[in-house]
Amino acid sequence: MKTLIKNTTVFDGDSSVLNNASVLFDETGILAVYMNGEAGVIAADTVVDGTGKYVIPGLIDCHVHMQEGFETANAVGAGATAAFLAGEVLRYGVTTIRSCGNGFDADIEVRNLVCNGVIKGARILASGKGICITGGHGWPMCYECDTEAEVLKATREQIKKKADVIKLLATGGMGTKGSNPNIAQLTEGQMRIAVEEAESLNLLTAAHCTGLEGAARAIRAGVRSIEHARLDRPTAELMKEYGAYYCPTIITRYNILHTNDPSLAWLKSKANPQDLIEKERAIRLCLELDIPVCASTDSGTGPLCPLGPSTAQELAIYVEYGMTPMQALRSANKTAAEMLKLENEIGTIHVGKCADLLLLDKNPLEDIHNLDSLLRTYHNGVLAYYKI
Ligand SMILES: [Zn+2]
Repeated sequence: MKTLIKNTTVFDGDSSVLNNASVLFDETGILAVYMNGEAGVIAADTVVDGTGKYVIPGLIDCHVHMQEGFETANAVGAGATAAFLAGEVLRYGVTTIRSCGNGFDADIEVRNLVCNGVIKGARILASGKGICITGGHGWPMCYECDTEAEVLKATREQIKKKADVIKLLATGGMGTKGSNPNIAQLTEGQMRIAVEEAESLNLLTAAHCTGLEGAARAIRAGVRSIEHARLDRPTAELMKEYGAYYCPTIITRYNILHTNDPSLAWLKSKANPQDLIEKERAIRLCLELDIPVCASTDSGTGPLCPLGPSTAQELAIYVEYGMTPMQALRSANKTAAEMLKLENEIGTIHVGKCADLLLLDKNPLEDIHNLDSLLRTYHNGVLAYYKI
């Protein structure tokens, strides 16, 4: 079914803004982008008047979990939760998510169900189980590996299950009780084994890195995206040298620092207000050194940071920390798509790309908070959410 959004303002997901433009699309992708009112006589099954409104690509969140809490009870609960969240994110304009760890591989199963049309949901790139050291951060959702051979075996197990990304736990972390986030865990050699295996099949790798020693190991091992790390200048320069992408996931830490939930007091006690100052420094270093930043939240581990609304909140923090609204949007569009090796399919509004499109009532380039004015989400050319 062909849809035409007419006479609107289009941000292409990279650096272009088209005024008085129209976008024609269907389930096969974006069919045409018309300039200056040229679309006047184009036939479409549905015509949407976009006058005074804004069209941007669907948002991509490069680091989520599809769980109800830090420790999911069983496979049935994990599957049901992941299936629900896959659809839920579309209500917030998030059309692609990368799931970075699920102890029951529920994200892989739900991805398959979405791909097969059994359930409706966002595009999912899934890691399933991660790889950590014995008793290391995230162990309930990971293979526990202590040798390069064990890491290789675990990597191949996930490849056999058709994981899109191999998730490596390079340091301790916040969400595992008793874990010290600054301690390095997997070795550089162990991570390199996983990277070589994954890269040989053009798969993605991501490393959870809180402390900088673990981050440096992951970067030198060639991991494609560095998650969470606070980044000092030497680490940022190392990322630049190795061409690593940065997934900041700031909103989670922000919410941990601001929660008053007594059941999360143990988590809050591990956080420090200084963390946000260091995260701001990280964003500013990336801007200075031209390190690609990918929108990422670490959301979906419970009510503290829900999957869906957290993505726009994360982008607002990037703007607060020095990005222009266009740079923040690009982190959730073109840059994220490149990191996911999907730049030929998603992330920009160009003919031939998938029709993942958002219609907004207000201009997000003027104020990033205007992402809240979402009117419609189109996913693969189909209306997946509309505001009543
Ligand atoms: Zn995570």
